[in-house]
Amino acid sequence: MRAVPVFLYHSVSEDPPDWIAPYTVSPKTFREQLDRIADAGLTVVPLRRLVAALHGGPALPANAAVLTFDDGFADFYWTVAPILTERGLPATLYVTVGAIHPPGGEPTGSLLPDSRMLNWRQVGTLDAVGVEIGGHSQTHAQLDTVYGQRRTDEIVGSKKRLEDAIGHPATAFAYPHGYSSPAVRRQVRAAGWTSATAVENKFSSATDDPMRICRLMVRSDTPDSVFDDWTAGRGSRVGPIRESLYTRGWRSYRRFTRFVGAPVGGPPKD
Ligand SMILES: [Zn+2]
Repeated sequence: MRAVPVFLYHSVSEDPPDWIAPYTVSPKTFREQLDRIADAGLTVVPLRRLVAALHGGPALPANAAVLTFDDGFADFYWTVAPILTERGLPATLYVTVGAIHPPGGEPTGSLLPDSRMLNWRQVGTLDAVGVEIGGHSQTHAQLDTVYGQRRTDEIVGSKKRLEDAIGHPATAFAYPHGYSSPAVRRQVRAAGWTSATAVENKFSSATDDPMRICRLMVRSDTPDSVFDDWTAGRGSRVGPIRESLYTRGWRSYRRFTRFVGAPVGGPPKD
């Protein structure tokens, strides 16, 4: 398996709130990027195909790519899903459970700033039409800086609430902000999540860690040339991630300050 681009999107919108704007692409750009993926000869496969390959199952087709979407913005329902359906493309949507509204009601609460988020009825519909619904914690906390019951609720409690809502097991997890630690990854695996995605801006590969799958984050300012490099398997390093001193130092700093910070991202890691 060569370098596998696992694309990470957030919102796809013309008018996002300021806080998510740097991580938002317009519907027009999104369509063009899907064209670029197709023009490069890539086959978009469900995340579960990559996960199966990483667990020793059937190899992926040559030139595979994966589409993932974080947080659970309402524009996934209104904008992204129709575009994916029109093109017959699979995707995984990771929802922040505490940010999802009951129809007509208030969400249980998350650290994400105000935005139009999905409701549970929409999540159920997306699940029914074949979008894989994954978990992205309860409140979008930085999981490597919380402990005990709080962390259990983020990892185990959110899984139960998500499964109660969609009526079947959910197995795909994404770390909020991409942050994890060895203890977090052990707890995620023990809770029954069979895969977890990070950020890192690296390609995934046959030797990637299924509990720390590398993704490439598409931002509002991602140049076409960079996107094209990614579709060609160039321009970024290939995972798995090795935990650097820098990563450990940055985690210590975040633990020390209990810094909540920007809802996505953080400083560039390399
Ligand atoms: Zn997120």
